[in-house]
Amino acid sequence: MSEGLSKGIAILGSTGSIGTTALRVLERQNGRFRVAALTAFANDALLAEQVQRFHPAYVGCVENGHRDGWAAGPGCLIAAATRDDVDIVLNAVVGAAGLDATIAALRAGKRVALANKETLVVAGELAAKAAVEGGGEIVPVDSEHSAILQCIGRRPASEIRRLILTASGGPFREWSAERLATATLADALRHPTWQMGRKITVDSATLANKALEVIEAHFLFGIPYDRIEVVVHPQSIVHSFVEFIDGSVLAQVGVPTMEIPVLYALTHPERVTDDGVQRFDPVAASPLTFERVRTEDFPAFALGVAAGRAGGVAPAVFNAANEEAVARFLAGRMSFGGIGSAIQSALDACGSGAAVDREALRVADQSARAHVRALQ
Ligand code: NAD
Ligand code: MG
Repeated sequence: MSEGLSKGIAILGSTGSIGTTALRVLERQNGRFRVAALTAFANDALLAEQVQRFHPAYVGCVENGHRDGWAAGPGCLIAAATRDDVDIVLNAVVGAAGLDATIAALRAGKRVALANKETLVVAGELAAKAAVEGGGEIVPVDSEHSAILQCIGRRPASEIRRLILTASGGPFREWSAERLATATLADALRHPTWQMGRKITVDSATLANKALEVIEAHFLFGIPYDRIEVVVHPQSIVHSFVEFIDGSVLAQVGVPTMEIPVLYALTHPERVTDDGVQRFDPVAASPLTFERVRTEDFPAFALGVAAGRAGGVAPAVFNAANEEAVARFLAGRMSFGGIGSAIQSALDACGSGAAVDREALRVADQSARAHVRALQ
């Protein structure tokens, strides 16, 4: 039960880019929300500072050496996500490690403000089932999906003709295939429009992030893959479009800040005042341009979308191979081009099979990680 009128929030991954954005937004809301639980790595000095400042009733410390990966997901995330004093779980953990907490929160009837898109990519059907069984709901934090949710409003899926997700194109949007082969970690981490954690920043450079988002949109809105498109929009002002069956196209626009979608995920369908957020100036934002995705030069994108279409364990394998390959790239042990090749290789080796239950997905996730670790 929530205490008083304020809504209790659990922030999983409170020290990351989304977690700290959320705490900044919550501080401006003057008691509308209560920070009930925080989780992060135990050795993260920022966690101690956050505890001092926000006095959460529960603090979940993730073991320092914990490897990314879902099978060994830390129990303190589930403990935080299912507490009685928590109404909304902001899942801002990176990677499949956030999956079990999302499922547990949905089963416990919570709203999950979901930044952790990997949850839906690995187990979109399990999450939907958990929501039905437990009465929970997912409200997306990802800016594109928040935009789509806001454009759809109360209209049924039958009135939607097409979703068009926008993509910034990342730091390599204008790089030739030859130059891409020389891309370094420093180059990949230089995102032109968004300040984010390292994993999603690399995903934005390979465009794997946009494939993850296509799959995320499929599960969130129940739209078939052949009606989900992606367009490159370098300014990151139009956060996505929805085309309806009468030909009308709605878009949600604004400055590229996660403060807006984070707050909206907490208050949806209502809106509340936030005087601290940067205001939109159409003249300053001009001009707005759009381009086709260069699918041939960014193989991770097409591989991810194809994995989504294939279904079964393929999306889980795509995600796990990508997580493992990005971890290697971040550690200086894989080239930029190696990420796409590793994903392709893992999908060829273990990407087919039905996703009958959690165990089948777990095995697929583990096999894909082991496959990528064994490469080279
Ligand atoms: P980040 O790396 O900045 O922060 C991750 C947080 O999760 C940290 O607090 C860390 O302590 C915690 N964490 C990491 N691995 C963990 C594990 N194995 N177990 C438990 N806790 C762990 O990441 P981020 O950029 O904030 O992204 C978080 C999620 O939000 C990702 O799924 C990302 O794709 C999504 N997202 C981020 C943005 C953005 O602007 N940063 C935008 C849209 C979606
Ligand atoms: Mg996004």
